[in-house]
Amino acid sequence: MRKKGKVYLVGAGPGRADLITVRGAEVLKTADCIIYDKLANPALLKFANSNTEVIHVPKRVGNRSCTQEEINRLLVEKAGSGKTVVRLKGGDPCIFGRAGQEIAALNKAGIDFEIVPGVTAATAAAEYAGIILTDRNYSSQVVFITGHEAQGKQKSNIDWHLLAKFRATLVFYMAMGNLDFIVKQLTKNGMSKETPAAAIADATLPNQRIVRASLGQLSEKCRENRIEPPAIVVIGTAAETKLNWLMKKPLCGKNIVITRDAEGNADFANRIIDRGGNPVEFPTIKIKPLTQRKKFLQTLAKITEFDWAIFTSASGVTIFFDVLQKLKKDARVFGPAKIAAIGSETAAKLEQFGIKPDFVPSVFTSKELGKQLIGFANLQGKKVLLLRSELASNQLSEMLSKAGAEVDNMPVYTVATVKNKSGWLIERIIKGKIDWLTFTSPSAVRGFFEQIESNIVNSSNVKVASIGLVTSEQLKNLGVKVALTATDHTVDGLLAAIEGTYK
Ligand code: SAH
Repeated sequence: MRKKGKVYLVGAGPGRADLITVRGAEVLKTADCIIYDKLANPALLKFANSNTEVIHVPKRVGNRSCTQEEINRLLVEKAGSGKTVVRLKGGDPCIFGRAGQEIAALNKAGIDFEIVPGVTAATAAAEYAGIILTDRNYSSQVVFITGHEAQGKQKSNIDWHLLAKFRATLVFYMAMGNLDFIVKQLTKNGMSKETPAAAIADATLPNQRIVRASLGQLSEKCRENRIEPPAIVVIGTAAETKLNWLMKKPLCGKNIVITRDAEGNADFANRIIDRGGNPVEFPTIKIKPLTQRKKFLQTLAKITEFDWAIFTSASGVTIFFDVLQKLKKDARVFGPAKIAAIGSETAAKLEQFGIKPDFVPSVFTSKELGKQLIGFANLQGKKVLLLRSELASNQLSEMLSKAGAEVDNMPVYTVATVKNKSGWLIERIIKGKIDWLTFTSPSAVRGFFEQIESNIVNSSNVKVASIGLVTSEQLKNLGVKVALTATDHTVDGLLAAIEGTYK
């Protein structure tokens, strides 16, 4: 008989992917099959192996909508066939998570299971809103309640008359569809309409929204502010507290459009989130490796003949080492050649592959790289290899040649513009829902304004920020008003400059 697998019921945490537990992340890595919920952050799938089967429920299984019974059956079927299954659920798996039904089905089928607790939405939402649910000064009791239960049920299991009089912090899950009813039940049973309350939507995520109001006004204020599920509702004196830790981050609530390639955007987005902002991804370019070309491979074969190899972008480094890996080679291909990087991000990327660059200029531009490298090393008669974008300007190679170097310009990649659906972004720009557009290269500028006219940007309130002079030049050539050019030409430098405008 085939050995049965095991099911891990794992709490994904309340929204932010990195609020999963260490145990949860470890277990995801071992899964043959992941069955995940709408509320579990899909970014967590990065822990899965490339051959892990991933099933999204309850949205759809096959062509039909998925019921709890079908999920139970799926768990039994997958684990029954010997697989390690992770059932990934938003928040904590056992708080309003229907874990009971799934466990009953597993028990019936004789399938082993383990529960990995998670950070539940109630505590996470409260804390990200600056609310302490049980501060000894005002509440020694807290109640978690489902707001959904009441909907349509003939006889409610909720003791409204007790809740209305209970000196506790009340936390409602799934309350948004039923808020008027909830407020009515509480006030009808004696709770004051003046009781402080708060609703927190998309808690812990960059687009988190908070509404604070008295109980009597909560529904109206939520409607006004279009608070939609998922949201947590907190009722009681606790809701009045405001620990202002998240909201005081300078980029909090700022919508920042990022226009790099998909991979560059992913990294940029994380840095914006760290600073409390809301990244809006609009990739305008795609980076295409040119490392399959014969000329590149020939140069690679004789790379030890060079005295210097120069990288002018993190993308160039990534692509270069991708091809090395495919060829089953590593950083040793450089032999005694010295290595230069244009700036701190390129240097950091090199370090990931075990290389500490011999030279990084103090200002991160090609011009300064050329100027300072010439001062740093005698390049007379030296062989220099430029590993960079096919679209890079000639300036650097001309400077180095003038200093007596024999320069070999070897494109590692090229940049193509990509077309997106742009209507949604134009609408948000016009409605004033975007604070910043950011550009980190001239090609991203071209890609963006091929799709969105510059006068739409110029006539709105949106501000344009650029990573450096070359990128700003490109913007100005297209008639775009530039609000800010970073002096530290890195993504962090750009964000610091944007933050500086709010201080
Ligand atoms: N097991 C989950 C709860 C599932 S019930 C947990 O422990 O958190 C679904 C409800 O959880 C939603 O209706 C909402 O009330 C709440 N919720 C989940 N994620 C949330 C989030 N990011 N922000 C606010 N509420 C959230």
